[in-house]
Amino acid sequence: MTVYSAPLKDLKFTINELAGLEKIIQMPAFEHATDDLVDPILDEASRFASEVMGPTNVVGDQEGCRIEDGTVKVPSEFSAAYQLFFESGWQGIDCSQVYGGMGLPSLIGAATAEMWQGANLSLGLCPMLTSGAIETIEAHASDELKQRYLPKLISGEWSGTMDLTEPQSGSDLATIRTQAVPHDDHYKISGTKTFITWGEHELTANIVHLVLARLPDAPAGVGGISLFIVPKFLVNEDSSLGDRNDVVVTSVEHKLGIHGSPTCVLNFGDNGGAVGFLVGRENRGLAAMFTMMNLARLQVGVQGLAMSERAYQAARDYAKERVQGQIPGSRESARIVQHPDVRRMLMTMKSLIEAMRATAHVTAATIDIAHHTDDADERTGTLERSALLTPIVKGWMTEVAQELTSIGIQIHGGTGFVEETGAAQHLRDARVLTIYEGTTGIQANDLVGRKVLADTGVGMQRLLQEIAELDAPLADCGPDLDSIRHAVATGRQRLEDATNWLLGKGHDEAAVVYLAAFDYLMLAGTVIGAWQMGRAAEIAHRKLAGNEGDTDFYTAKIITARFYAEQILPRSAAYFEAATSGGIAAMDLVEEQF
Ligand SMILES: Cc1cc2nc3c(=O)[nH]c(=O)nc-3n(C[C@H](O)[C@H](O)[C@H](O)COP(=O)(O)OP(=O)(O)OC[C@H]3O[C@@H](n4cnc5c(N)ncnc54)[C@H](O)[C@@H]3O)c2cc1C
Repeated sequence: MTVYSAPLKDLKFTINELAGLEKIIQMPAFEHATDDLVDPILDEASRFASEVMGPTNVVGDQEGCRIEDGTVKVPSEFSAAYQLFFESGWQGIDCSQVYGGMGLPSLIGAATAEMWQGANLSLGLCPMLTSGAIETIEAHASDELKQRYLPKLISGEWSGTMDLTEPQSGSDLATIRTQAVPHDDHYKISGTKTFITWGEHELTANIVHLVLARLPDAPAGVGGISLFIVPKFLVNEDSSLGDRNDVVVTSVEHKLGIHGSPTCVLNFGDNGGAVGFLVGRENRGLAAMFTMMNLARLQVGVQGLAMSERAYQAARDYAKERVQGQIPGSRESARIVQHPDVRRMLMTMKSLIEAMRATAHVTAATIDIAHHTDDADERTGTLERSALLTPIVKGWMTEVAQELTSIGIQIHGGTGFVEETGAAQHLRDARVLTIYEGTTGIQANDLVGRKVLADTGVGMQRLLQEIAELDAPLADCGPDLDSIRHAVATGRQRLEDATNWLLGKGHDEAAVVYLAAFDYLMLAGTVIGAWQMGRAAEIAHRKLAGNEGDTDFYTAKIITARFYAEQILPRSAAYFEAATSGGIAAMDLVEEQF
């Protein structure tokens, strides 16, 4: 069985030295978030993840969820773990102090989220969905709804869900059919939502569903969707609970992974209509839902990172123990960690994990600045940057998680294929990450269509310029960092060339552009990862030169960055070639092949 231990040193390195926590906590919104507050919180989160949530992971996988008497029974050990989560106030870590949250930056929220998801992805999904509901209500709901719902969501006493999907409506939300009919001061909601994560359970006293639905006279398409709060129990003015609302669970899915997370089919309005309250304006629901989806996309990217880290820890520990064969040139029995190929696999995991963590944290920091800076130009720039990075964090990091959790099994050999080891659960659990919150195909379309072509590549050009600015500091570090410098420059050039190629094709050659989208997304992730690894190496080099800090830690940072530069970044050549091939697959005649 695998044990999860939060990678605290690495988390603190990326938060402080790459993502720039110091600058963020200087903003007035975070003046209470001093170093002496943040560090102990991260230490305690790490303890909580490994001692409270982690031990429920395997048992949750084995027990799964079932329907009983109209409710869903989740794995028995989740209840005590969630109760402690609630009592510790973890839900509110990065939520507004106005409604009882701790008011820490999203950057700290991203770090604790990695710990929850690494410890137990199934259980971690519950607070993850609640965070999305909190952020959406805070950004779009009326003051009255905020007062009524936010304090108990932020405390973790209630949980939240996100209800978009319907049988005919997955990636394409334009086809949503759930109805919302105005009635007195509220709406009557009726329809069926499928695949609703933590849609029904008894861990919390109430469940607040955020539901996309359509008014009777709404225009067709996404311009006719509205967003509603539909609580499981109606909420009185003083936030106490009233009658049961007209929403029931009709089944829970049997899934490949995340067995401990109930994925529910919910029926709204079987008995006359569930009471719902409009969030934001009529027919503007999708814009409000995007608040929730964008946050969730980042969090799912972090889930990819967390599962990769968990798989890495298990593989590393196993490789240090398992004895098999001899290393070339020796007759001694070797531990498999000594074999060059096993080292390659472990370093592939380690270096991609570090690159992903840095990319996620830098994105979270960008969001903090965008939401709290007083400087209008800085706000525009950071909003643009976070919008550009979001599909890359979601798409690239969850695709990489498929590879790394699979390598985790490979390092275990046959034992990895057997459930008892735990390595198989990591792969099974991670498999959904490229699917929910928008498939990789949808992220790639978003990146190419909305984030690159729509602004004629301006945001991407700014990013490329920033990557170019790392060249001089890397050159100053001398020959030790040459391969890293070369890799960053080469990758940057490929990303620039691919961007110009896309812009050259534009919307006129949509089929070719959207064929290229996946490889372009993977190219962007790989290059941004190299950039962050280059930044880490440059910082580590300076620290070592100045005899500052932990020598082993900073030496390891340079080794991992070199591995990334020499073994991972070359993938960018293949992504570039595939993206810009303008390939045969876009041609109509390919359809005849299927
Ligand atoms: C475990 C689990 C939990 C979930 N939790 C929730 C939840 O809490 N709330 C919720 O609302 N939903 C949830 N979902 C639903 C999830 O968001 C959808 O499954 C997902 O958006 C994909 O929709 P779909 O399954 O209908 O696939 P489809 O949309 O039918 O897609 C099938 C394939 O076609 C591709 N495709 C579709 N459209 C395009 C396009 N325009 N361009 C390129 N390729 C395209 C996709 O990439 C995919 O490969 C969950 C799903 C699962 C499996």
